[in-house]
Amino acid sequence: MATPDFVIVGAGPGGIRAAEVLAAAGERPLLADEGHAGGGQIYRRQPEGFRRDARTLYGTEADKAVAVHRTLEALRPHIDYRPRTLAWALRDGELHLIDEAGRAGVLRPKALIVAAGATDRIFPLPGWTQPGIYTLGAAQIALKAQAMAIGSRIVFMGAGPLLYLVAWQYWKAGAAPVAVLDTSGLRDRLRGLGRMLSRPAVVMNGLRYIRDLRRAGVALYSDITPLAFEGDGTAVAGVRFRDSRGQERRIACDGAAFGYHLRAESQLADLAGVPFAFHPLLRQFLPQADAMGRTAVGGLYLAGDGVQLAGADGAEAMGRLAAFAALEDLGRPVDGKAVAALLRQNARLRRFRDGVAAAFPWPGGRLAGDLPDETIVCRCEEVTAGTLRRAVRDLGAPEVNRAKALCRVGMGRCQGRYCGLAGAEIVAAELGRPVADVGRLRGQAPVRPLPAIVESAP
Ligand SMILES: Cc1cc2nc3c(=O)[nH]c(=O)nc-3n(C[C@H](O)[C@H](O)[C@H](O)COP(=O)(O)OP(=O)(O)OC[C@H]3O[C@@H](n4cnc5c(N)ncnc54)[C@H](O)[C@@H]3O)c2cc1C
Repeated sequence: MATPDFVIVGAGPGGIRAAEVLAAAGERPLLADEGHAGGGQIYRRQPEGFRRDARTLYGTEADKAVAVHRTLEALRPHIDYRPRTLAWALRDGELHLIDEAGRAGVLRPKALIVAAGATDRIFPLPGWTQPGIYTLGAAQIALKAQAMAIGSRIVFMGAGPLLYLVAWQYWKAGAAPVAVLDTSGLRDRLRGLGRMLSRPAVVMNGLRYIRDLRRAGVALYSDITPLAFEGDGTAVAGVRFRDSRGQERRIACDGAAFGYHLRAESQLADLAGVPFAFHPLLRQFLPQADAMGRTAVGGLYLAGDGVQLAGADGAEAMGRLAAFAALEDLGRPVDGKAVAALLRQNARLRRFRDGVAAAFPWPGGRLAGDLPDETIVCRCEEVTAGTLRRAVRDLGAPEVNRAKALCRVGMGRCQGRYCGLAGAEIVAAELGRPVADVGRLRGQAPVRPLPAIVESAP
């Protein structure tokens, strides 16, 4: 595989805008994405043959979605676009790719921009591995990509903008939710409001979702404490929680979706050796990059949710910035005015992000101590909270990687992408220390499962 000067991982809004800037500068970047069609998470495309229009699929974001899709289509002749291609490792400047057919290759670009996005952040609950229970993102994907509802009596639970958005999208699609259970409360909302008002239109949208849901008769609870998903093991049948007054309640359902905002996809940055720092508001470790996306690893740039969790607009801004940084570092001319405007825009979006994080805090720290021992935390390896606690208490694990070595938490197919943050909270609670002190699961290659048979390099 011949190496181009510029390579981008991720064809979401961040990666596509980076490709656009590079192509406009006369470069021909390679753009690799494991998905079948560009657009990333928010602007995910429906499968071929589906005919819903952009307004139905993307709502208020339809114009942006169409713009991003059109940009990628227009770029196709000018870039080397590789859909269905996974970047599975990054070490010593070498990026390892593999496509759907199992063809593998190694690239050594002068500049690599990683815009790998984010995944749902979850916290386990008794019964959460039963059929019929989805993450919020997965419930949205079922609706957006497959035009399917996850049930006919659905409860949505968690915290963050996706909670009300996905519930509202289900209502709009005709699958009205039974209830929305929010772990955050009014006091949290007030804490984040000032910073969230830097984007008043987005706040108004959120209020509209809540108003529409209320009018539709959806039960809305805030400040709740999740207790359990109920069911006989073959299907979810209800959600148990404590309301804001401490009263225990149960809502029957045949589908449930839950999640607490997002978790940055940062394994490739980790494998490359980028330093991480704990972000106290987002309550997770993030790879460190400057405002342009430059990292401490020469030639490696980060953009989008994988480094800043500032949403799709932030991903577009940062994708462009990372491309400008890469061009500048390779001695190509860049438009200083455009860079300055993007830096201002992105700073505003980060302020909004901090407001959202304060308004919808991750409840992992408050839930970790009470999670029953028998609850599965790592579903790949079926490690329970009790096993994890014993690794800390009886075997002396002082941080998450040692706990992983001792009890296999985070060692399975997903490489800790779903259990890593919850596991850290449980370790921290058991040790009686702040979660920032117990570290983060180190990334390991392959970042996703690989086909077992690999053919020769394409
Ligand atoms: C499930 C989910 C649903 C969301 N829904 C909404 C919503 O409705 N509204 C909203 O405002 N925001 C939503 N968000 C947030 C929004 O999607 C992001 O803010 C935005 O898409 C970030 O853009 P990005 O370019 O950084 O990453 P993404 O759009 O996530 O794109 C990243 C791309 O990188 C690819 N990728 C990742 N790792 C690799 C790898 N190793 N090799 C190859 N390709 C790789 C992925 O396939 C993906 O296409 C959602 C996020 C998630 C996770």
